[in-house]
Amino acid sequence: MTYLDCHNHTAEWSDGRQSIEQILERAKEEGVRVGLSDHTGMGEYLNSNDRLLAYADYLSQYPVARGLEMDLGRGFLVDPMVRKKFDYMIGSIHGLEFNGVRLGFAPLIKYLKGGLPDYNPGAQIKDWDAFFNTHLDILNKEFGEQEYSILGHCTMLPALARAKNPEEAFPEWWEEKLVTTLLLFNVCMEISNRWLTPYDRLMRKAVDAGVRFSVGSDGHEPAKTCNLDFPKKMIEKFGLKPDRIFDIKRNIENKSN
Ligand SMILES: [Zn+2]
Ligand SMILES: [Zn+2]
Repeated sequence: MTYLDCHNHTAEWSDGRQSIEQILERAKEEGVRVGLSDHTGMGEYLNSNDRLLAYADYLSQYPVARGLEMDLGRGFLVDPMVRKKFDYMIGSIHGLEFNGVRLGFAPLIKYLKGGLPDYNPGAQIKDWDAFFNTHLDILNKEFGEQEYSILGHCTMLPALARAKNPEEAFPEWWEEKLVTTLLLFNVCMEISNRWLTPYDRLMRKAVDAGVRFSVGSDGHEPAKTCNLDFPKKMIEKFGLKPDRIFDIKRNIENKSN
């Protein structure tokens, strides 16, 4: 099957370092169809319904699926008329308030780029159960307020992103509640090539419970955009049939150069 890579970012509309033409070129090279999902929420990118409308109109000129990546916890309600212009909405956590402090991704990104000697934000967290409940509360609240199709990079929690041993870092009770939440709101779990998530034990629980999945490169630059090696590996490993993978009904054919 030709996969739909639902998760990509452009320079025009958020923090990508690539044009939509470059993304389409990469999609051809990798033999996938492509969806755009620029950052949306109360930040500096797609931060209003008007901006979203302009984004949807722009995307409609190209053979792409039209998505967006809402910043859960810092999102806004998408006007139903605007929502209709999009094929799907991803919701992702990029930081969360805990005990009055906002735990964000900035230190992690800095660490990954070599600008910090160590990354151990978990040291700030004393009560891990409360931390995981805070995460689940955000998902339940946001998914209850408007319709999401996909939960992006679900284990990328600020304190635990890139945990060396996720099966120790994440408790099983949290995995079970996460799966229940996704089923309750009919939200797909993203298999992310950029963040190599979910890990096996969580994937197993989600597969067995009947959760559906989406695949995404979370591409920000051409070198990694539309690479779906990790999602393909997981789909094969867990024997997922195509009907368990998110897709759109519109036909998008990539003929442009
Ligand atoms: Zn994200
Ligand atoms: Zn993203």
